[in-house]
Amino acid sequence: MSKKRKIRTSVKIIFLVLVIAIAVLAGVLIVKNHSSNNQTAAAKVVSSSSPTAAPSASATPTATPAETASAEPTAETTAAAVEETAASAEVSGCKSEVIDAAYTNTDSLLLLANKKHKLPEGYAPADLVSVQIPCYNGSASMRSEAAEALLKMYNAALNDGVSLAVSSCFRDENYQSALYYKYVNMYGTATADTISSRPGYSDHQTGLAGDFVEGSAADFNEEFEDTASGKWLAANAHLYGFIMRYPKGKASITGYEYEPWHFRYIGVANATLLYSAGPTESFEEYYNVSGGDYCAQ
Ligand SMILES: [Zn+2]
Repeated sequence: MSKKRKIRTSVKIIFLVLVIAIAVLAGVLIVKNHSSNNQTAAAKVVSSSSPTAAPSASATPTATPAETASAEPTAETTAAAVEETAASAEVSGCKSEVIDAAYTNTDSLLLLANKKHKLPEGYAPADLVSVQIPCYNGSASMRSEAAEALLKMYNAALNDGVSLAVSSCFRDENYQSALYYKYVNMYGTATADTISSRPGYSDHQTGLAGDFVEGSAADFNEEFEDTASGKWLAANAHLYGFIMRYPKGKASITGYEYEPWHFRYIGVANATLLYSAGPTESFEEYYNVSGGDYCAQ
């Protein structure tokens, strides 16, 4: 073999080796590329199914705090829920009922506060005075005309051998708010609504209402109707301008169960007329104004 031929053969061999090497390399690359394409496709399938998978996966961490919150409601979360309910009720127009100014004018003795009729935001009467009869809370206040009538009624009852006493009379919106949310935290919104008014809806905020007590187990119970105070008030309170605000069997109309201890001043003439319609006549029935539950319920 000549030297030239040897060189040519070597070049051919190197070329062949190079071609094979390139072919092998290319093959590897194609295979690799193909498998990576498959991975991308697989990834797309995963990502396309992830919208359904993701919520259930991400639901777990978010569900836990939510569940904890609903199991142990804080005042804040419940307040937010109530605000939401109130807002939606306004949207539904439930609270836009037009009633006579006699029930909305804050100077009126017939100023109405129930679960359908909210008092003006932050309302507090301008003529509050301390009540001059025994008070288990230390002190209580009422609008001056009501406080005067309360003292007259106290003296009349005393003449009959009954010593009347009150617990709370006027309650401002902040106090009512604290009271209501205390019950919400203890029992939940549904139960709290049956035993306490939401702030702004309380008859006590009118400055014309009072809760009578005897310092016994009958206080704030239906049994109060059988006490000396309960009996005397049921028969005579109207003569001094007070009516039983939440009579027996009228919860669907007044929004509250029977409260034989809660009396509301509306003036002697009004109270006498209302009482003449029957001892269990309610304010809502007599004046034909809406009551019952809150709008959203
Ligand atoms: Zn009351």
